Amino acid sequence: MKLGSLFKTCIFIVVTGVSVTTHAKNFTVQKLSNQAYVLTKHWSDTSKANMGVVVGDDGILLINTMMQDDVESLESTLRTISPLPVKYVINSNWDTYNHQANAHFAKKGATIIGQKNLQYRPVYTQLLFDDELRLKIGKEEVVAYTTDAHSFAHINVQLNKANVIFMTDSFRND
Ligand SMILES: [Zn+2]
Repeated sequence: MKLGSLFKTCIFIVVTGVSVTTHAKNFTVQKLSNQAYVLTKHWSDTSKANMGVVVGDDGILLINTMMQDDVESLESTLRTISPLPVKYVINSNWDTYNHQANAHFAKKGATIIGQKNLQYRPVYTQLLFDDELRLKIGKEEVVAYTTDAHSFAHINVQLNKANVIFMTDSFRND
């Protein structure tokens, strides 16, 4: 009997160990400031993408939402950063891996924001702007603005306090 419960404990540890490893492999988290983080999704050794997270006083802002299939992994990664709900989403452009989980976060109460030309693509949006949009998230000043780069719905997202710009596909180093 004692041996049986010891065996169960061992199984539990092994299973937990595997899930933690998988989770860590999916998203890596880099802290940029007291409020800002960059999450990197690794689909393979050569295929990966970044997204941004800004933690406010009563909710979280996501810069892009990545793929629907990765949303559970994304949410569990967010829980390691903050218990607050996702309140806003800003999409940098219409690339699928930037916006596919928009509707998921909208259903949970988030407001989905993007440049107005996103309306010409099958992207789930709610609030569209023309040239520039500013949001105060806690102490962070978020400025989303159009650029001529990448595509005609593309925006850069600048975090003034953290001194960071999320450029997504408007910057490439290959
Ligand atoms: Zn692209």
